[in-house]
Parts: sequence; C-alpha cells; structure tokens
Amino acid sequence: MITLKNVEKIFKTKNGEVRAVDHVDLQINQGEIYGIIGYSGAGKSTLIRLLNRLEQATAGSVEVAGQDLTKIRGANLRKARQEIGMIFQHFNLLWSRTVRENIAFPLEIAGVDKAERMKRVDELIKLVGLEGREDAYPSQLSGGQKQRVGIARALANRPKVLLCDEATSALDPQTTDQILDLLVDINKKLGLTIVLITHEMHVIRKICHNVSVMENGKIVEQGSVLEVFRKPQQPITKRFVNQVTEPEETKETIEHVLKKYPDGQVIQLTFVGDDAEQPLINQLIRKFTININILQGKISQTQSGAYGTLFIHLDGSPDEIKEAITFIRSHKVDVEVID
Ligand code: ADP
Repeated sequence: MITLKNVEKIFKTKNGEVRAVDHVDLQINQGEIYGIIGYSGAGKSTLIRLLNRLEQATAGSVEVAGQDLTKIRGANLRKARQEIGMIFQHFNLLWSRTVRENIAFPLEIAGVDKAERMKRVDELIKLVGLEGREDAYPSQLSGGQKQRVGIARALANRPKVLLCDEATSALDPQTTDQILDLLVDINKKLGLTIVLITHEMHVIRKICHNVSVMENGKIVEQGSVLEVFRKPQQPITKRFVNQVTEPEETKETIEHVLKKYPDGQVIQLTFVGDDAEQPLINQLIRKFTININILQGKISQTQSGAYGTLFIHLDGSPDEIKEAITFIRSHKVDVEVID
C-alpha cells in the first residue's frame, strides 16, 4: 500500500540545511497498522507529511495506493489525496461548524451531492460513536469526542490509508485507550491501512503490527512489534521498550514476592504477544494438582495477545513443579525461575 524508496527531505534554513528525513526505505502492507516511533525532532512529522504530499520529497519516491506522489500534480494529486485521510494531535476542526458540518466538509469539497453527503455523515457518526452529538460545536465536545470527529472527517471520502499524527498525545490515558480501540475497530471493519507516528511506546504496543524506530531522520530499526519488544537491537529502541516494561518496578516486585512465599517456587512469566494469559493459567489449573497462586504483575491484553509480566507461585512436590514449568515453557512465554 505504501512504498518509500530512498526518500530524503532537506529543509533549507537561514543557518544551512536540515536533513529531516534521511534515505528512508519503508514498506507498509495493505490492512496493517504501522507505527513510527521516535523522540522529538527525529523526523516523524516530516515523514508522515510526505505520505500525503503536505511535504514534497527532495529525493526518492513515495508511492501510496498505487501512485508516486512525488510525480503527480494538479487534479491527479487532488484525486490521489482523497485516498489518504489524516488526523492530528490538536484535531484541526472547523470551530464555527457543527460536528455534522465538519464531517460533511471534505465531501462538499469533493463535490458529493447533498443526499449522499447526509447518508455518509450519518454512517460515519455511527461508526465513531457520536450519535446525539451531531449538532454540537467542537467547543462543546471533550477531547476524545473531538478526535472522533477528526477520525470521521478523515474517513469521509473513504480513503485507503489513514495517517495519524500524534493522534492521542493531547488525550488522557483512558481516552487514549478508547481512541486506539476505535482505530483498531476501524482497521478491522474497513480493512483500512493505518500509519501512526508517536513518541509513546505503549501506543505502538497496543495497536501496531509493525514498527519503525526513527532517529536523526533515519530509520534505525524496523520489524514486527513482537520482535522489537522481544529483542530490541538499538540503544534507542531499548529505551522505548523500557518505557513500558519498567525494570525497576519488576525488581521490587521480585523481592516482595520472595518474602511472602518462602516455600514452593516463584516464577516470572513474560508475555510478548504470542499467547494469552488466562487460557494458559486455566490449562495449568486443569492439568496439575499443585497450588497455583497468581501474584502480581502487569498484563495488558492487546489485539495480538498479552504483553507484560506476571508472577505466579507454584506450591507442590518438586517433580510436579518441574513438570508444570516444562509445560509453561512449551508455550510461547518467557519463563524465569526465581530463586
Ligand atoms: P518530529 O516529528 O520527530 O518531532 P520533525 O519532522 O518535526 O520531527 O522535524 C525533524 C527536523 O526537521 C527537526 O530538526 C526540525 O526542526 C526540522 N524541520 C521540520 N520542519 C521544518 C521546516 N518546515 N523548516 C525547517 N526545518 C524543519
């Protein structure tokens, strides 16, 4: 759906040149949710703006939905851009227009007739869960509702790609989760390809299939979210992964748990998205007669499985404990026995 080859974007400034995007190659498949993560100044915004020609590349090719955006202009470019929706950190709504009017706006521009416009706006309002708020103005909406309007507006022309520019950075954690759930829902229902940029690893972990890590305009690491969490290669990627795995907290948890359960065996299970936590525990309980205490830990369920760490305490004969651990190891879960 998206192919970038050797893309470069250089800004000329008073003090010289800034290489915001530096020889980037990128392949994003149809129907996936792709994340690009990096710290401020890494080049993420420039990169995502190249994907709908808000910026023109200095060199290289930017193919989106079958068109090289660097080569077309005029009516062809306008048509190509209808295949690409975008949502923003600060929503970019029209403040003097209602929810309905905001969503209808891109349809007006595209010349869709009134009856069809009304029909599509109603569908979109339902899709993003804004029923009853059609006639409200943006100033009367919560942050989450504003972003729902932003999403509906971006989808109005039935694009093939949705670009999300730090779409949840202005929202509180609970609203962030709701908006991310909505994006997953839309990805599944419409088969839409979603590209998002963020500086927050939990956003990547929650909804993305694949990820690129950006630093100084370059993509320094690329892979499935699973691989990147399991084996981050670059120091910057390790820092991002640590944002969500909190090693210090884990150390304290181990000490606390060992004091509380001196008999039997404590093990730490690390889920990296392959397996769900509850079915595994249920199988353990059914298969073995040992006592199984679920201790503490932090697991979050995502589209692709469970992520996080869980401590469990097994109490029984040494042989049975050993067997149970072997059984757990046969699942795709990292197991650490804690002495
Ligand atoms: P990010 O989104 O990761 O924070 P940006 O793409 O906004 O990064 O910026 C990457 C680099 O390009 C920064 O050094 C920034 O100052 C520079 N930059 C971005 N836009 C412009 C511009 N229009 N003119 C000059 N420099 C720019």
